[in-house]
Amino acid sequence: MIPVKGYAASDPTAPLAPFSFERRDLREYDVLVDILFSGVCHSDLHQVRDEWGGSLYPMVPGHEIVGKVTRVGTEVKKFKVGDTVGVGVMVDSCRECKPCTEFMEQYCAEGMTGTYNNFERDKITLAQGGYSTQIVCDERWVYHVPDKLNLAGVAPLLCAGITTYSPLKFVNVKAGDKVAVAGLGGLGHMAVKFAVAMGAEVTMLSTSPSKAKDAKQLGAHHFVLSTDEAAMKLHQDHFDVVVDTVSANHDYEIYLRLLDLHGKLLVVGLPKEEPHVNPFELIKNRRSIIGSMIGGTVETQAMLNYCGEKNIVADVEVIPMQKINEAYDRLLKSDVKYRFVIDMSSIK
Ligand code: NAP
Ligand code: ZN
Ligand code: ZN
Repeated sequence: MIPVKGYAASDPTAPLAPFSFERRDLREYDVLVDILFSGVCHSDLHQVRDEWGGSLYPMVPGHEIVGKVTRVGTEVKKFKVGDTVGVGVMVDSCRECKPCTEFMEQYCAEGMTGTYNNFERDKITLAQGGYSTQIVCDERWVYHVPDKLNLAGVAPLLCAGITTYSPLKFVNVKAGDKVAVAGLGGLGHMAVKFAVAMGAEVTMLSTSPSKAKDAKQLGAHHFVLSTDEAAMKLHQDHFDVVVDTVSANHDYEIYLRLLDLHGKLLVVGLPKEEPHVNPFELIKNRRSIIGSMIGGTVETQAMLNYCGEKNIVADVEVIPMQKINEAYDRLLKSDVKYRFVIDMSSIK
């Protein structure tokens, strides 16, 4: 077994604290990754605090991982020692069902194995995430990272990046499309960057007036304060796509109303309470609501390659591991520009 240091939550109310544990010895297709940076996703906070129910403790969160390969299993083909790699939200799946054979493992019929807060396929071992010094992962769920990109900024691509890239690609966002992004946090700022790169006319819908300038700097063409009813009314029946990245409880209606004919509300935000949806708002303009979960292994690699070509990384605030509880408090106040990333050398 491989000894690892990390930070874990022991129950839904305890702050994260230092935690030592062990990773499995390498199987034939495993790689050992020395973690350099680990992004802080709002899903980490939802799960640490058991907001979705069923959380498993002790929990080492973290599913936006970048590091260096330090050892490879005997059958590993994709990687060699020294490669810069990423690991994201999943680390395994059944590999046999239809979604798995089509490389959409996030929709595995038996359920994907999440990077943490999940049992491994053996149903016994608790998977532990990236707020730690090393991870062991089957090479299928490990990705090549384009060398020229800033590595702290790459980490959030493994969740915030793929989660926004995948639905925008799914609905084929193209030049000239009118795309709005609700919520300027980790996912939201990546959605803006991708929609702009795809050529869309992008509008930021935010509850924070102070973020207007940043939205423009990220490439958004327009900014609308979503709490300003008059301003929102002016944008009714206007957009082809609205990406909902909001982490707090809210109704879908305020965003549905903004959709033009055949407009699509792409739901990626996962607040704990069920939203209210008025069917009259849905039938108007034949609107649809589409949910989307991260992205599959092939698409995640394609997204990273795309980011390499277009020079896209997240805007990050790098913190030491010891500041994680403070970072969670700030996340809850929407006070993050625009992703916290843990420098893992702080606990090595
Ligand atoms: P985040 O960085 O905390 O950003 C969330 C943003 O939501 C905030 O910055 C804020 O933006 C906005 N917001 C907060 N409270 C709001 C309210 N009451 N009304 C309207 N807007 C509000 O979170 P994140 O890491 O981007 O994650 C966003 C959500 O996506 C989380 O629920 C997370 O669990 C989920 N998620 C889903 C997937 C998936 O596969 N579908 C993957 C990763 C994460 P403004 O200040 O601009 O309003
Ligand atoms: Zn995430
Ligand atoms: Zn499967």
